[in-house]
Amino acid sequence: MNRNLTCIICPRGCSLTVEGEKDNLVVTGNACPKGKQYAIDECTHPTRTVTSIVRVENRVDTMVSVKTAAPIPKENIFDVMEKIRAAKVQAPIVAGTVILSDVYGTEVIATKTVL
Ligand code: SF4
Repeated sequence: MNRNLTCIICPRGCSLTVEGEKDNLVVTGNACPKGKQYAIDECTHPTRTVTSIVRVENRVDTMVSVKTAAPIPKENIFDVMEKIRAAKVQAPIVAGTVILSDVYGTEVIATKTVL
C-alpha cells in the first residue's frame, strides 16, 4: 500500500504518506501522533461522523440538525442516512436529545434546541 492523505484532525492539515502492509503501516508527514493514528484508521477501518437534519413534525418548515454521537464505519453511512431520513421528531427538542438509538454502536443526537 502506498497512499497519500491529508490529516483532518486539526486545521494544520498535514500531508501524510502511508506505506507498507495492513499489519505494518508506516506513516510519515504527521506533525503529531494523532495524525499517525488517523492515517492508520483511515487505511484499516475508516469512520465518519454523520451530520444531517430531521423534520420537526409539529413545527411548520422546521428542521433540527443531528449528528452521530460517535463516528461510524464509513460503509454504513448510507444506511444511517436512510434511518435519519425516516426519523420523525416533535418539538420541544433540546440539543443532545437522542433521536435514534443503537445506530452501529452509537446514537443520533440533536445538535440544536427547537422549542
Ligand atoms: S498530524 Fe497532528 S498536527 Fe498534523 S494535521 Fe494531524 S492532528 Fe494536526
